[in-house]
Amino acid sequence: MPDKAKTCRNCGSEELYSKKVHSGGFYGPNLLPLGMLASPMFRVEVCTDCGLVEWFVPGVADRKKIRKLFKRSN
Ligand SMILES: [Zn+2]
Repeated sequence: MPDKAKTCRNCGSEELYSKKVHSGGFYGPNLLPLGMLASPMFRVEVCTDCGLVEWFVPGVADRKKIRKLFKRSN
């Protein structure tokens, strides 16, 4: 099965770059508050053609916590 390259949902470009980054909470806002001792990571994906940024939470345990702590949208 040939791998289909992932493309940007905004412009269709294949120029996507990703990196794992901390969700913050020390010197800036905590963008993913999951408790005092938690420092979850984001995987940020950037399209370097149009600039669209997408954020993913790669940690399975972090996603379980979100189900407990956040309000379900639907
Ligand atoms: Zn794009």
